[in-house]
Amino acid sequence: MMFNKILIANRGEIALRVIRACREMGIASVAVHSTADSDAMHVRMADEAICIGPPPSAQSYLHVPAIISACEISGADAIHPGYGFLSENAAFVQVVEDHDITFIGPSAEHIRLMGDKITAKETMRALGVPCVPGSDGGVPDVETARSVAEDIGYPVIIKATAGGGGRGMKLARSAKEIDSAFRTARAEAKSAFGNDAVYLEKYLGTPRHIEIQVFGDGKGNAVHLGERDCSLQRRHQKVLEEAPSPALDAATRARIGQTCAEAVARIGYRGAGTIEFLYENGEFYFIEMNTRLQVEHPVTEAIFGVDLVREQIRVAAGKPLSFAQDDLHLGGHAIEVRINAEKLPNFTPCPGTVATYHAPGGLGVRMDSALYSGYTIPPYYDSLIAKLIVHGRDRPEALARLNRALGELIIDGVDSSVPLFRALLEQQDVLTGDYNIHWLEAFLAQTLET
Ligand code: ADP
Repeated sequence: MMFNKILIANRGEIALRVIRACREMGIASVAVHSTADSDAMHVRMADEAICIGPPPSAQSYLHVPAIISACEISGADAIHPGYGFLSENAAFVQVVEDHDITFIGPSAEHIRLMGDKITAKETMRALGVPCVPGSDGGVPDVETARSVAEDIGYPVIIKATAGGGGRGMKLARSAKEIDSAFRTARAEAKSAFGNDAVYLEKYLGTPRHIEIQVFGDGKGNAVHLGERDCSLQRRHQKVLEEAPSPALDAATRARIGQTCAEAVARIGYRGAGTIEFLYENGEFYFIEMNTRLQVEHPVTEAIFGVDLVREQIRVAAGKPLSFAQDDLHLGGHAIEVRINAEKLPNFTPCPGTVATYHAPGGLGVRMDSALYSGYTIPPYYDSLIAKLIVHGRDRPEALARLNRALGELIIDGVDSSVPLFRALLEQQDVLTGDYNIHWLEAFLAQTLET
């Protein structure tokens, strides 16, 4: 059985991404939107649109009763959550299923398991996935934090079990800092996530962030689609992603990919998932699993030539995966840049009206964006306005294509992070792929000083 109508509980470029997959599959799409988004592209592009509330997300895109009502009014038989908003909310999944609507994603149980980073780590360790050395489970008090830190050695990082989006992490470089790091981490976790449980990890000095894309059919079969390298980060948030990683060879990729695919197969995982690692001195260290589609999924789609959203919809409808591991062959190199409405050098969000928007095109260029000329970016939501993805036969070709495409792109009227990417393309370390998770912060600090 395939769905007749899918409601997309999201906005912006990811809502368009899902609408596009629906249309190719012959499935009707329903957009939901806040009053601030009446003129948004996803509202225009979907087959139907329903207003679900006022601008604040809590009263619209996160407002579960309004979203369920929109399903009932429109007759949608499934919900795609995109990323962010309700995509990793197990309680939401439960409500959706209680209303006989299909959630396009994993089970509530798997979302809960991986949404708590302490249980996620315990689960992964038990499944044979290598983890960052640290506390066994949560750290209840300063004394425990101090003794674990002494055992594994400084520096250490204290992380919120409910953390996400790069928030809820505190570094302690030495025994002198552990007390305040622990207390601050806990207080911040409590106020940001309503859960003050924290755990402790060895802080790695020069790792890359490498994540494995996995896909399960919910019946014990799973495949991997290689890795993405997301080491270029600012404040623990990804800025540029590429696949394959400049740091991995085929044998290493196959080994870690197989470990991840086996792990999710064993728990009967359904749908798309990403297992995130830090990678240092040839070793992988699990940090977390995201139980949803990632922002950076297009680089994987480019090199494997598959449609991950279509696949999500298929397995949610109970169909088998449309590819086996042996069908998946990696081709070429892809890079994505996240273009935000932000003013450099301080990355201050700057919503406003886009007077002129012109998207780049040509061979190997994909622009995922909900912008159009004359569109006013509302101030209430994430500052991501476009993702530019390029694909080339090899890394130098992808880099040249990115430079060319950035040159064609016009976003007039608001500031964006495009100048950052032009600057990065002049850096030798970026051209050679020689960077780790701290590289971008160091580059920005140096650029701001001079
Ligand atoms: P979030 O869920 O907030 O994204 P993650 O656990 O995925 O948190 O970590 C986000 C980023 O924080 C990582 O990509 C990395 O840059 C940094 N980080 C996390 N854990 C460590 C660690 N043990 N050592 C060094 N950096 C870390």
